[in-house]
Amino acid sequence: MKTKSTQAWKRAAALLLVLTLLSALAGTAFAEEDALNDGSPWVDYVLRENVETVEARPESPKDDLYLYANFDWAKNTEIRPGYTTESSFTDVADEIRNMCMEVLTDDSLQGEDAALVQGLYKACLDWDARNALGVEPLQKMIDRILAVSSLGELTALFCDRDEEVVQFFGFGADTGLNDPETYLLGINPTGLMLGDSAEYVKRTEMGERIEAGYRMMAAKMLPKFGYTEEEASEMMDRALALETELAGGIMSSAEKMSPDYIQRINNEMSPDEAYALCKNFPMSTIIEAWGYDGAKSCLVTQPAYFEKLDAIYTEERLEDMKNYMLVSTALGGISVLDRDCYELSVEINNMINGSNGSAPDEEVAYSIVSGVLMVPMSRAFLEKYDATQMKEDITRICQECIDYYREMLESEDWLSADTRAKAIEKLDALTIHAVYPDKWRDYSGLSLDGLNFYDSLKAIRKFNEEYNRSLLNTKVDHELWNFSILDTNAYYNPQDNSINIIRGILGKAFYREDMSTEELYAGIGSVIGHEISHAFDTNGAQFDASGALNNWWTEEDYSAFLARAQKLIDYYDAMTAFGGYHVQGKNIQTEAIADMAGVKCMLGLLEQKGDVDYRVFFEAYAKIWARLNTRETEYYCLMQDSHPLHYLRANATVQQFAQFMEAYGVTEGDGMYLDPADCVLVW
Ligand SMILES: [Zn+2]
Repeated sequence: MKTKSTQAWKRAAALLLVLTLLSALAGTAFAEEDALNDGSPWVDYVLRENVETVEARPESPKDDLYLYANFDWAKNTEIRPGYTTESSFTDVADEIRNMCMEVLTDDSLQGEDAALVQGLYKACLDWDARNALGVEPLQKMIDRILAVSSLGELTALFCDRDEEVVQFFGFGADTGLNDPETYLLGINPTGLMLGDSAEYVKRTEMGERIEAGYRMMAAKMLPKFGYTEEEASEMMDRALALETELAGGIMSSAEKMSPDYIQRINNEMSPDEAYALCKNFPMSTIIEAWGYDGAKSCLVTQPAYFEKLDAIYTEERLEDMKNYMLVSTALGGISVLDRDCYELSVEINNMINGSNGSAPDEEVAYSIVSGVLMVPMSRAFLEKYDATQMKEDITRICQECIDYYREMLESEDWLSADTRAKAIEKLDALTIHAVYPDKWRDYSGLSLDGLNFYDSLKAIRKFNEEYNRSLLNTKVDHELWNFSILDTNAYYNPQDNSINIIRGILGKAFYREDMSTEELYAGIGSVIGHEISHAFDTNGAQFDASGALNNWWTEEDYSAFLARAQKLIDYYDAMTAFGGYHVQGKNIQTEAIADMAGVKCMLGLLEQKGDVDYRVFFEAYAKIWARLNTRETEYYCLMQDSHPLHYLRANATVQQFAQFMEAYGVTEGDGMYLDPADCVLVW
């Protein structure tokens, strides 16, 4: 729950929601009857239960392209133990992981990067050492929290840089929105157990499952520190009650997906103004103790949170706060302590996500290593698997897409000449980040020699903290990429106006050397086209070519854009996915627009090449969205993801294009038919 920085909004332009460990959910199974294929206009064939009930593959894609293209794949795929999803993305992720496993177990590899990742990997799998320690690594912190007897002592604990105490807010060097070239001090709310603050107003079925998961975790973890199950239950009640107060000052997921979100979080102020937000809570004392006292400017994303926090920081509420910290500390260690704790984390995740069993230990260890040692893992990977040719290929395709976008933007007659010129200026300034960076963060100061797993993770956090502190007030180095290149994903970053098409997505359905042009464009091509469009969507419109928050649209053009987006929102809102649940058009608008723009770009490029087999293109395109989800995961995607459900990413996208209708002779009455007058293309 300790969050140094909430940069979630920056990830909004990713191609795919990354559903790793949903930190919790649990409990009641879904009712049988609401899982079945009542979707409209198409069956949600991503939902595992629906795959079981649909008996035959349709004869043609005229009624349902996604079902036609992915029928056999889904019938022959089972969700593996410990997984909540299988997809074209997990196919590529498997390939990358298998290659990484070779890196992690190759004794012949030399160098600091291999030493770091192999060291952590071995420590993670050293169950004898982890079991011998048990929950002892957390006991010292629990004791220190228990010993606090005044607000002054609590503040002193928050200020202790040697301890990793649960903080009630996050802070650290971060890029600002007005000036993306300089690191300022980001100040953010804490994370919440139930994830979405809206859950504290009215629990959804997901919120109920998450709460049940946390309650089970508390009932099993707190007794390890001497509490009874009854005490654990009461402690959980109090912790949730405290979070309910704090959640009143935190924006909901729906608010975060709204186009005005970026404007709302852009509260840049001087440190004195930031500190003045709290009278009781010692914000400045803590920030200074952690070495961020020289900040020239602060970005307080959600000032309303600090009013709530300030109200509880009193002597009368001391025991409430201590209780919250005890619960958070005990539960926070669940996946990094001994085998017993780890198995509990698996059990809870399965309850929450509708999965079964557990992934092999080696896979879990790999995901931890690649998550916390992104740079060393990536560099060791590239040392073993050269990707220079790939970098050239991807850069070339990105450039082709950018060139075609220029034509697309020039032909948008609903935009004024002014806005069009600004859009093209932004396009010309777009930076291509292909496959891997040329420059990396220095890791030479980090050593994990002789450390056990828990202490290794702690050493990495300390190392990252030092690094983050060193960034404050310095210039942003855009040549360093701030994410793993081994993720199976792609991003647009509005703050440096870059598209990021990384090594981790380049495989299988997205990119292979033996692909036809149609397949290549349907795969990585449409991904690139998707990412570029984010430079011009409701979020991208707010950032200029330099990455500063500065709306470059004329008012009329922006209104015209919103009106076009509204038509798309209405179109999706009318759809039902399963169980009577409607698609959330507002939440998915920018990603749906991006999918359509990506396909439009590829169709334009194909047309220029001539001699195109459009069926190959559309079927390959439908296959990149192949996915199988548990009911719990699909519900989460429907309610919380900014991307449309995968069967809609295929079907609702392609039906916007005459090339699709013509390729298959789709006519009125067919499931894929859309009257051209009802088309919802924004670009
Ligand atoms: Zn996107």
